[in-house]
Amino acid sequence: MMKQIVDRARQAYNTGKTRSLDFRIQQLQALKRMINENDAEIRKALMADLHKSELAAYSYEIMGLLGEIELAIDNLPEWAAPQHVKKNLMTFSDDAFINYEPFGVVLVIGAWNYPLVVCLQPVVGAIASGNAVVIKPSEVSEHTAKLLGKIIPQFLDKDLYPVVNGGVTETTELLAERFDHIFYTGNTTVGKIIMSAAAKYLTPVTLELGGKSPCYIDKDCDIDIAARRITWGKFINCGQTCIAPDYILCEKSTQGKLLEKIKETLKEYYGANPKESPDYERIINKRHFKRILSLLEGQKVAIGGQHEEDTCYIAPTVLTDVKADSKIMQEEIFGPLLPIVTVQNVDEAIQFINQKEKPLALYAFANDKKIIKKIISQTSSGGVTGNDVIMHFTVVELPFGGVGHSGMGAYHGKHTFDTFSHKRSCLIKSLGMEGANKIRYPPYSQKKLDWAKFLLGIKFSKKKLALVLLPFVAVVVAVILKKYRWELASKGIQLMLAFQKLF
Ligand code: NAD
Repeated sequence: MMKQIVDRARQAYNTGKTRSLDFRIQQLQALKRMINENDAEIRKALMADLHKSELAAYSYEIMGLLGEIELAIDNLPEWAAPQHVKKNLMTFSDDAFINYEPFGVVLVIGAWNYPLVVCLQPVVGAIASGNAVVIKPSEVSEHTAKLLGKIIPQFLDKDLYPVVNGGVTETTELLAERFDHIFYTGNTTVGKIIMSAAAKYLTPVTLELGGKSPCYIDKDCDIDIAARRITWGKFINCGQTCIAPDYILCEKSTQGKLLEKIKETLKEYYGANPKESPDYERIINKRHFKRILSLLEGQKVAIGGQHEEDTCYIAPTVLTDVKADSKIMQEEIFGPLLPIVTVQNVDEAIQFINQKEKPLALYAFANDKKIIKKIISQTSSGGVTGNDVIMHFTVVELPFGGVGHSGMGAYHGKHTFDTFSHKRSCLIKSLGMEGANKIRYPPYSQKKLDWAKFLLGIKFSKKKLALVLLPFVAVVVAVILKKYRWELASKGIQLMLAFQKLF
């Protein structure tokens, strides 16, 4: 069955209809209509899966997705246009450019935590760059998956953009097929399964994974502001956000103040009892509920800790004086538990971060920006926000992705288009200037080699080339000045300037 789906997508792709930018734009417009016309159904599904309020569903999923679609529609002609590149002396009269072409049939596998946007945002770029896309929503967010399976075929080309629903069995069957690119969002363990399946056909992959994203708070920092921003970023979506701050690193003297401020902020955001707040989500299922609770064992709960299995509710929870070797510090929490680990200073924090796998995001709060820059220069992570959390994600010009165990490849805005495009190097030579080409034909000689070095600019930086050319140009100008009239001389200078622009 999976073979048939992929074969049908390939046949449809091979008709060449996705090569047309008009066709791609029309499909993107249909996707936008799909979201707008099914707004209420989408919000209902997100509420059923994660207890997302209508406003949270719009703010964190629908709004961003619509923005990406509009951006792609508005910019596609510019993104897809051949990009002309600089040339050397051997090729200055030729046409050298990068052509953006689709890979072919790609597979997009979504995760459950933001089940609409995480699944469809890569699809936007995959359609924009002219691919056929097999879409696999996460089975864990079953209501959204079912809805996507129903509405996508009503709006998009059914053969080019099929939706496959199902669990591990279906995903495994899909992975046995040949794709031209696989874009996976989910955990690192499955990321490895994806990569080994892709290796069979040398299929390139983008892996949007997770990890433990640290958050350093310097003692010299506005703790009030830091607490407000961290409380927001940690507890939205009940902590099930891939770039949520996973844990805090700060000095012992900062811990107490921070705790007070987080307590105040939680009350302001979710009221005295977050369970009753319409803005506080739930854990996706009982398996994750139990996994998260097991991380609490042996920990000092300073705030929260309440939970209810029937509704998968876990209160926003803060843990103090957490030991570096405890269970909660070994795996991504992906839930509403915030451990605070105390360190002596910024250098110890950097050392702590560097002992772990490279995280998806890194956060640092400090009044002195030099401290933030120091942390950036001495660590590595997929992305960074200084003096806030999550927000680098919202700048579409910034590529969003991980590094090392937090993933490979990136997307958002034009970067998604690039991720799903093969950048083809194209050079169209003129049939003239055969004299210059002689230097590359046998028989070889030192003289030819010297000319080749000069013309290819191998030995010559732009500065050196200008220096070499300057006396030559000066002699030409002097000869013109002596022999002919001034007007001719100025034409010579103009010619020379035009020549220099080539570099
Ligand atoms: P998940 O369980 O929904 O898995 C994602 C997909 O992988 C699903 O479609 C599922 O069918 C498939 N899958 C699961 N097990 C498989 C197997 N054994 N073989 C083949 N396919 C399999 O999602 P998840 O992994 O629980 O998602 C949470 C993780 O995703 C967290 O680590 C989080 O940080 C990460 N995440 C990352 C981003 C990002 O943009 N980098 C975004 C969201 C989530």
